Amino acid sequence: MRYFVGIDIGSTAIKISVADENKNLIGHKISASGSMFYKYAQEALAELLKELSIDESEVVYTVATGYGRKLFKEADENISEITANAIGAQQAAKSYGNIKTIINIGGQDSKAISLDAEGNVVNFAMNDRCAAGTGKFLDVVAMNLEIGVDELSDYHFKSVGTPLSISSTCAVFAESEIIGLLGNNHSVEDIVSGVHYSIAKRIVKLVKRVGVKENVYFDGGPALNDGLVNAIENELGHKIFVPEYPQITTSYGAAVLACDAFMCNMQSEEGK
Ligand code: ADP
Repeated sequence: MRYFVGIDIGSTAIKISVADENKNLIGHKISASGSMFYKYAQEALAELLKELSIDESEVVYTVATGYGRKLFKEADENISEITANAIGAQQAAKSYGNIKTIINIGGQDSKAISLDAEGNVVNFAMNDRCAAGTGKFLDVVAMNLEIGVDELSDYHFKSVGTPLSISSTCAVFAESEIIGLLGNNHSVEDIVSGVHYSIAKRIVKLVKRVGVKENVYFDGGPALNDGLVNAIENELGHKIFVPEYPQITTSYGAAVLACDAFMCNMQSEEGK
């Protein structure tokens, strides 16, 4: 068998996807980026191949993407995460419908990508100046509330009434604002939903810069948080599609591209 690997070296996590010749996702792995991107990426790939009982020789093409993509020297190619994200989203949402808008919230930045009917990227906007509207912001909030990021959603849905207004635009300021809200006897539930709505408002502004066209796809680690999904849908006034594995869309896109690049090279070799 021939397999194709996409590896997304993000600021927070390394994501690896393996696809078969039909571009089906057959396995993936997510591990912390840490300080030694290259070493951790190599180790994570070796572990994933072992788990899938795939021999290294069966991996015929590898595409790297993400913040640290140039550090992964074994890759046959590297591509921008915007392109990989767009390709991965369309493949992951194939049975749902055509994706025209992508919202991606990562550890350190957030993006809105607009696609045309053929799935080409026509425009994108990015927010990386500050941690507000990123996974890092949610991590700081969760830490200050002494809960896990994976618990934020449960707290969100237990909040009643109008969401609290959170004015901080940076994680560092949010920290003292949250301590102040706790001191004023606001519940953890209401603070969490307030934070989700403040992020949602920022994201909606970002998406409006590229234009909102349905279907809207949401990915990145924070898309695992149903409470945040709910806040974005309410602010946007549109339903959004979240794939089964939102953290790996970009690495999956790189694996799909690896498959296309390999098949294309084969055809040109045969044509000689
Ligand atoms: P990057 O690509 O920049 O490394 P990711 O897309 O992997 O970032 O997103 C990382 C963020 O996802 C974390 O900072 C965290 O806030 C969020 N996250 C990770 N796992 C979960 C989870 N189980 N539930 C909710 N949020 C999560």
